[in-house]
Amino acid sequence: MTAFAFCPRDGTKLVPTPIDGRERPACPRCGFADFLHVQIGANTIVQQDGRVLLVRLNYGPRSGRWALPGGLVEQDETPEEAAVRETEEETGFRVEIEGLLATMRRAPAPIIVVTFRARIVSGELRIAPEEVSEAAFFPGDELPPLEEIAWPSTIHGLDAWRAFERARP
Ligand SMILES: [Zn+2]
Repeated sequence: MTAFAFCPRDGTKLVPTPIDGRERPACPRCGFADFLHVQIGANTIVQQDGRVLLVRLNYGPRSGRWALPGGLVEQDETPEEAAVRETEEETGFRVEIEGLLATMRRAPAPIIVVTFRARIVSGELRIAPEEVSEAAFFPGDELPPLEEIAWPSTIHGLDAWRAFERARP
């Protein structure tokens, strides 16, 4: 990941500046400092009768593999809002966030993926065919094989869900 050479706010040339224990390119004019540039992915674990909702991707190099409902957070959204919006777009279900389940940094692309537990409040299964070919609920012990899972963050989120469920009284 290449650092910025110029301030993305005002175009001033950045100068190396010690901040939080590291030399970082920083803007002498506005104070911008070059930390991690990151995209945020927001996923949901949607449960029904002990089963989890997965979608089969229909685009890109991971086409045909299973993922949690979700997508990248837009500039004007919170991660929770993005997770709710993407889940409804991809599956037809309107969901409500119940809590944060897991976070993961997906390397090398700097993407932080956050996975929320969510419950269905309305809607019915209706996929967005340009993004998803199929959506289905899977029991925790009958998930698709690893080679059919789209992302390391999908595996991470599903592992966190199973650990969370096991710990419940
Ligand atoms: Zn600046």
